[in-house]
Amino acid sequence: MADYLISGGTSYVPDDGLSAQQLFGNGDGLTYNDFLILPGYIDFTADEVDLTSALTRKISLKTPLISSPMDTVTEANMAIAMALTGGIGFMHHNCTPEFQANEVRKVKKYEQGFITDPVVMSPLHLVRDVYEAKARHGFSGIPITNNGKMGGELVGIITSRDIDFLKEEEYDLPLSEVMTKREDLVVAPAEVTLKEANEILQRSKKGKLPIVNERGELVAIIARTDLKKNRDYPLASKDSKKQLLCGAAIGTHQDDKYRLDLLVQAGVDVVVLDSSQGNSIFQVGMINYIKEKYPDLQVIGGNVVTAAQAKNLIDAGVDALRVGMGSGSICITQEAGPTVPPDIKSHSPKCASTVMGTYILACGRPQATAVYKVSEYARRFGIPVIADGGIQTVGHIAKALALGASTVMMGSLLAATTEAPGEYFFSDGIRLKKYRGMGSLDAMDKNLGSQNRYFSEADKIKVAQGVSGAVRDKGSIHRFIPYLIAGIQHSCQDIGAKSLTQVRAMMYSGELKFEKRTMSAQVEGGVHGLHSYEKRLF
Ligand code: GDP
Ligand code: GDP
Ligand code: GDP
Ligand code: 5GP
Repeated sequence: MADYLISGGTSYVPDDGLSAQQLFGNGDGLTYNDFLILPGYIDFTADEVDLTSALTRKISLKTPLISSPMDTVTEANMAIAMALTGGIGFMHHNCTPEFQANEVRKVKKYEQGFITDPVVMSPLHLVRDVYEAKARHGFSGIPITNNGKMGGELVGIITSRDIDFLKEEEYDLPLSEVMTKREDLVVAPAEVTLKEANEILQRSKKGKLPIVNERGELVAIIARTDLKKNRDYPLASKDSKKQLLCGAAIGTHQDDKYRLDLLVQAGVDVVVLDSSQGNSIFQVGMINYIKEKYPDLQVIGGNVVTAAQAKNLIDAGVDALRVGMGSGSICITQEAGPTVPPDIKSHSPKCASTVMGTYILACGRPQATAVYKVSEYARRFGIPVIADGGIQTVGHIAKALALGASTVMMGSLLAATTEAPGEYFFSDGIRLKKYRGMGSLDAMDKNLGSQNRYFSEADKIKVAQGVSGAVRDKGSIHRFIPYLIAGIQHSCQDIGAKSLTQVRAMMYSGELKFEKRTMSAQVEGGVHGLHSYEKRLF
């Protein structure tokens, strides 16, 4: 083997460790636990590490973290929190198309630059209408135009302070009597840039700034709250209109075309075609359909675990690939053998993790190998890969990214956070939230989207491909994601790479070295030899 010169040194060191190509060269399927990355040279601090990554061909994120489209993981609250902290959430489709689109709309409306379609009222509307709008939409800063519509002449503004102290009997007053009138308003002209508009808003000390054209007609408003959100979340993933990015999952059936239309109307930025085995005529057909009808919409295909599967989807025009089959924590797809499906309800919550890695349909691939093989192929076409499933620790995230994935998708790791759907409950004194596979009988009983992922309508008998369980309370995403970010930055620092782009370049050049872990190495790498200990991660 060739020796090489270390930078600045005068002596040769022997070649040590395996390149990724060598690690995956012998045909064994490896999981994240089967290998380690050898450390490199540190000449920077961890917080300097840049985690910017491509989600798809056209969308890039400051944080490579994605929440999975599962009904116990991602609805609007999760998607908002993920986007604010620099990642993105994919809204699940185990619900009606209307519900799904509305959750996407909540994300898109959460933060904005110019609000070009604000709720507007006329001077003849009543105070009661403002309370109703507040209850329905969550805000009460409402511009008033002569005809009650956008584009009408601006005649005033109403905000919560104008109606806070009104008595019940005053609820039928017309807004003309309580609003702040046009002559007292600070407004900005239509040509104003967002930056200038923000400066005016800061100077005026008001909550809203109406933007009007030369005829005095309302064209947009901006909200002071959004400036604060922008300051508080510097990593936030946003589109060109400063709205948070949001993804959604759809299936590949005829009725998913209606779902797609509603999602696009709600402003969805990217859809993932949600199939456990994505290399199919259905998925290729759907990709063609979407690319024809909505050429600007980013489409993620999958799931795939081989280059041959990836090829068909890349040829069809996907903008990214979702990789993983059978590695999810709740998944029993790979199981080949006479097995009794585990009934998690009869286990204590601690046993939930022992269910991992049991398998049912005999197809799949260990996740580290799947990520490496597909990424290595897809990069030739500039297609980013999402490593989906099997992420149990921040170390697994770092490994997935070091094997060529651009982003990682997580279910169980983000389940049971404050922002995940569902209520907390207690079992044996432990605070838990439900977490279930979308192919579990429990989820499929809803008879909606997840049915499609794991069966066709023709299937008379259901084969469960997932289990239903519970996960321990993890607190808020706003604390958990910063912990994950810091963890990935520290891994990159140990590797000696200042960015994820550099990690991947080092991996493909062979400079990044790996080593297999024996069973005893895995034991050595865990906590051992202690009578008892407490494990707190952040
Ligand atoms: P308000 O003072 O009660 O109007 O509420 P805030 O100004 O505190 O918050 C309004 C939030 O809702 C901002 O983040 C806006 O971007 C968002 N928003 C979305 N659509 C609208 C809309 O039609 N009108 C208003 N006023 N805010 C909207
Ligand atoms: P970039 O220049 O597009 O990368 O975005 P910046 O974050 O630098 O934003 C440009 C201007 O828009 C700055 O004045 C920001 O403060 C402002 N801005 C950014 N995001 C928002 C937002 O969500 N709402 C509002 N109202 N202003 C924003
Ligand atoms: P908040 O969300 O209730 O704090 O709303 P604002 O800070 O926007 O508004 C406070 C008060 O100022 C209300 O009575 C508004 O009607 C009024 N107001 C809002 N915008 C303007 C403005 O541009 N000029 C003036 N003079 N008053 C305004
Ligand atoms: P986790 O992060 O919990 O290890 O895995 C989440 C991933 O598992 C999801 O993103 C999805 O790809 C996959 N998944 C979700 N539900 C099921 C299921 O019921 N069966 C299988 N086979 N995979 C599932």
